[in-house]
Amino acid sequence: MQNDSVAAVGFIGLLIFLFLYIIYSVLRDLIYFFLIHYVRLINLFISKEKQQNILNELNKITYYQKLSMVGKNYFFHRVIVLMINKNFFGDGIKMSDEVKSYISACAVQLTFRIRGFYIEHIQLIRVFPKAVWSQLVQHDVKGLTTGGGVMWLSWPDIKKGFDFPDDGINLGIHEMAHAFKLTLRCDSSSSHHICTSITNWSIASKPAFIKLQEGDTSYFRKYGATNMEEFWAVNVECFFEKPEEFMNLYPENYISLCKVFNQNPLNNKFDFAL
Ligand SMILES: [Zn+2]
Repeated sequence: MQNDSVAAVGFIGLLIFLFLYIIYSVLRDLIYFFLIHYVRLINLFISKEKQQNILNELNKITYYQKLSMVGKNYFFHRVIVLMINKNFFGDGIKMSDEVKSYISACAVQLTFRIRGFYIEHIQLIRVFPKAVWSQLVQHDVKGLTTGGGVMWLSWPDIKKGFDFPDDGINLGIHEMAHAFKLTLRCDSSSSHHICTSITNWSIASKPAFIKLQEGDTSYFRKYGATNMEEFWAVNVECFFEKPEEFMNLYPENYISLCKVFNQNPLNNKFDFAL
């Protein structure tokens, strides 16, 4: 009888543990953000020296520079959450705070004004010192985002994206744009409001896509003509890096992206609020 009671208590304990573990897995980003941003337990998770290193790197990023003090603090904390929750692996390159900060900043930039939304699709970020051969696509790639949650990135190309912040090319933003969509897993039955906004974008952007496929590379680069997925990622790069021209040339397309990301890159004064 006593053995049965012990077994029952053990079983209930196991169920509680599994339940809490599932809650933790699903809400991990939110939990860390709550503890870091609201309870101010940041020093518990990351040393002061590392915090300073990360801030030094973020201060070099154009998007971050334009934020208010409140916006910068929020951005910084979201970067920390991402660094804690993703696995970074250097393949022939040292995983420094610089590398991690720039890559994390790409993800945070996209989701900055979408409260509670994190790019959960990516679990492992592999960083290389150059473009690498991909068996999957059978050529050298600067970046790749797989359906299995792995992202490949060439560090020199990530850096170049930030060194030239207004040329419409940013590898980190490009790959995170793919990961953003993969996180949502939108299909015809999706009711998520961001999925609806993405559908609106694909309708609004069709004329620009056809124009690009016909060879007009005056605004979007040729690579965007590959298919609608690449056009999406190229659009997101241009949205953040050449917003003024984007708005003038393709206003409907631009406004639909503002709704997807709940931000307007032209509105510098109010932390890119819509
Ligand atoms: Zn791509």
